[in-house]
Amino acid sequence: DRLEIRAARILLDNDHYAMEKLKKRVLEYLAVRQLKNNLKGPILCFVGPPGVGKTSVGRSIAKTLGREFHRIALGGVCDQSDIRGHRRTYVGSMPGRIINGLKTVGVNNPVFLLDEVDKLGKSLQGDPAAALLEVLDPEQNHSFTDHYLNVAFDLSQVLFIATANTTATIPPALLDRMEIIQVPGYTQEEKIEIAHRHLIPKQLEQHGLTPQQIQIPQVTTLDIITRYTREAGVRSLDRKLGAICRAVAVKVAEGQHKETKPDRADVGDGEDCKEHVTEDAKPESISDTADLALPPEMPILIDFHALKDILGPPMYEMEVSERLSQPGVAIGLAWTPLGGEIMFVEASRMDGEGQLTLTGQLGDVMKESAHLAISWLRSNAKRYQLTNASGSFDLLDNTDIHLHFPAGAVTKDGPSAGVTIVTCLASLFSGRLVCSDVAMTGEITLRGLVLPVGGIKDKVLAAHRAGLKRIIIPQRNEKDLEEIAVNVRQDLTFVMASCLDEVLNAAFDGGFAVKPGVERFNSKL
Ligand code: ADP
Repeated sequence: DRLEIRAARILLDNDHYAMEKLKKRVLEYLAVRQLKNNLKGPILCFVGPPGVGKTSVGRSIAKTLGREFHRIALGGVCDQSDIRGHRRTYVGSMPGRIINGLKTVGVNNPVFLLDEVDKLGKSLQGDPAAALLEVLDPEQNHSFTDHYLNVAFDLSQVLFIATANTTATIPPALLDRMEIIQVPGYTQEEKIEIAHRHLIPKQLEQHGLTPQQIQIPQVTTLDIITRYTREAGVRSLDRKLGAICRAVAVKVAEGQHKETKPDRADVGDGEDCKEHVTEDAKPESISDTADLALPPEMPILIDFHALKDILGPPMYEMEVSERLSQPGVAIGLAWTPLGGEIMFVEASRMDGEGQLTLTGQLGDVMKESAHLAISWLRSNAKRYQLTNASGSFDLLDNTDIHLHFPAGAVTKDGPSAGVTIVTCLASLFSGRLVCSDVAMTGEITLRGLVLPVGGIKDKVLAAHRAGLKRIIIPQRNEKDLEEIAVNVRQDLTFVMASCLDEVLNAAFDGGFAVKPGVERFNSKL
């Protein structure tokens, strides 16, 4: 191993912007490796949404250590022979992926990246997760036996790193063997920096363009991030930048004369050096024709109109303020493996027999939240002066309620939509509008308490991305706010709520008044 912590820190910082927590933990790990040269450390598992750089950090670690890197994709693997190999009696038998990987890299101490451990399957052919247990256990893996080789192989020199999108589907025994490091999504500002420091130079190089030919200002990058992508990572941002580079490449190629070559003398570092040298060898011909090589409008400036021409009309619009133009809509915050998302909860009422209809592919827990919300509102209807269409405090009297959670095709579950459903229904029955810039999350109880929920950081980032200003979170989640970048926190106002009164007061302009004189738990209930 070539281990030098200072060099490792510089390399990690150069390759990746932000991700401070992850880089810190990786450096700690490498520092321990430097001091104590045995490998019985924990196995790191990076957990986060796609495109946040988990795989590329793994690659950087291998580069830092000067070791070979090999990626094993575990997604969809559902046969334990895939890990442990087939016995040779079978036709078409072959070694498992671990031994195969070692064969490919040709050394016994590579960095193995076990990609997508959360997507391991299970089938009649055995459980690959169980086979992985042996591979990942530092106490056992010095004598790993592949069925194909049939002799023990010492895996203890291999450095294993795992990645996953969520810990929920990793088998508990496997999870127990690994140290989880959460890699959260990026903020807009971080994405802009990543784009300008890493993605744009990389795309330019891949498309044979130079910074003299194309100029992408920061406002354009922000436009791409907010209007053409909606993701926690930077993958589709990277693809959009690629699309822009392709379009510019066509322009540049069209503008070029046959006999001229593009002037690459200014191309910076890295792999371009080779071309740099070869072209430098004949400087006269380039300098004579350099100006001709660039059509008059170089550098091509990518502004809003160019963006529209290349990428088409914006895919995502800020629809927040217009959507809340009628009562019965509230904005909730949801957590998905792809990062946080904002969610419009809609409610409507009609004549009927007191039935509740729920749509939007909800899980059982979410359905129960809806029932809880309705029960709480019915029991507090008098206090808040909530009435059904005919003016009665019995909200479900001759009334049906329909609650819908877009997007309809995505399965949703979890208790955290509780406060949103209450707010949405309170708006429906009071006829008042929920503030357009408020988003909320929190579990509710029958007594009207607000309980803490998970994924606060991702949810807050999603609300920030969507341009919301005020966020209602459970009081007991206050500690989670520390993880959020200061500039994001400054843009937002947080309301810590411990009961539903506080939620409703914060969600409506001018508060949600309790009718004076009506006791909180009145005797009828
Ligand atoms: P994941 O494995 O998390 O799905 P990848 O590691 O494949 O994502 O990352 C996707 C792309 O995004 C890579 O090209 C990577 O270089 C880039 N990327 C992600 N995060 C960063 C970052 N913080 N700095 C620079 N590039 C990044």
